[in-house]
Amino acid sequence: MTQAAPQIPLPPPQPESDFYWEKCKEGELWLRHCTACDRAYFYPRDICPFPECFSRDTDWIQSSGRGALHTFAIVHRGPTPAFRDKVPYIPAVVELEEGPRIPTWIVGIDFAEGEIRPASVQCGMSVEVVFEEIDENISLPMFRPA
Ligand SMILES: [Zn+2]
Repeated sequence: MTQAAPQIPLPPPQPESDFYWEKCKEGELWLRHCTACDRAYFYPRDICPFPECFSRDTDWIQSSGRGALHTFAIVHRGPTPAFRDKVPYIPAVVELEEGPRIPTWIVGIDFAEGEIRPASVQCGMSVEVVFEEIDENISLPMFRPA
């Protein structure tokens, strides 16, 4: 008897984010941008989220894909079977050059045998986006050291 490999939870399709996920599949990171207050924001939604603005006058801009590591954790014990298969992994928040902070994972970090916390991961370090193709619909933006 065989079982399918456990799958990490994936984002459900939403009309407001279809464009975002299409661009991720093409290896591009796009952000919503408010033309009224000239700020970019994440996650994708039609109305500017800044309370002093709330404008519907929004569009899309392409992110450079570059940013700085704002904060992170290192997970050695996954909470479910799908995540246990991926340890150690590094959930993080990256602050993009355009301003928004995006929840993500840091990838491309080598763990030495038995190493808990590689010194190569530091808050403030420069990172750049890479995309991990999960299935035919979803490629997740992750970040590696730049
Ligand atoms: Zn705005």
